[in-house]
Amino acid sequence: MGANSKIEWTHHTFNPWWGCVRISPACKHCYAETWAKRVGMNDLWGKEAPRRFFTDAHWREPLKWDKEAALAGERRRVFCASMADVFEDRTDLNDARERLWALIEATPNLDWLLLTKRIRHVRKLVPWSGKWPHNIWLGTSTENQLWLDKRIDHLLEHDVVVRFVSAEPLLGHMNLQPYLQTPGSSVAGINWVIAGGESGPDSRSMNPA
Ligand code: SF4
Repeated sequence: MGANSKIEWTHHTFNPWWGCVRISPACKHCYAETWAKRVGMNDLWGKEAPRRFFTDAHWREPLKWDKEAALAGERRRVFCASMADVFEDRTDLNDARERLWALIEATPNLDWLLLTKRIRHVRKLVPWSGKWPHNIWLGTSTENQLWLDKRIDHLLEHDVVVRFVSAEPLLGHMNLQPYLQTPGSSVAGINWVIAGGESGPDSRSMNPA
């Protein structure tokens, strides 16, 4: 568990904005939407809804984390984003997105875990045209075989240090075997898989097998 995150596989979480719109069955009980409503932000979800943006103080936080990581002599992970999807394709998000890319480049001691369900938009929305910074791990969420099949090729086309799949909430069978990175192989594969069931009062069941 990280310094400012309860998620066990990251040290920090960073959100360039809050708000999103549902895109696939995994979104049915969107934790981020529930959490936003719990803290009184009721109108951030939906195609037409506004997004919530943050102050400069919020954007300075990762610079502090970067210095701390450098002082400790270790790399630290930042999950981006827990309350939004960085690759939601809306023009009003472009300024924050540009600011995020600059922030990633300014924090070389942090590994940024960009996790998206909109993996097909990545190529269009990043500025690096094939030459990715060393500190980006790129992941996509896939809840079952159907959505794995729809998203996996869009993930594998990117030459990042770590490609990962988040199968959470896992809603059905999926076979990741054909896509796993084989040691020594030059064929792009998945380096890391996160799996988990859904939580909450109406959670859908998961078969661990
Ligand atoms: S993509 Fe993520 S943040 Fe957006 S609605 Fe779906 S679960 Fe929520």
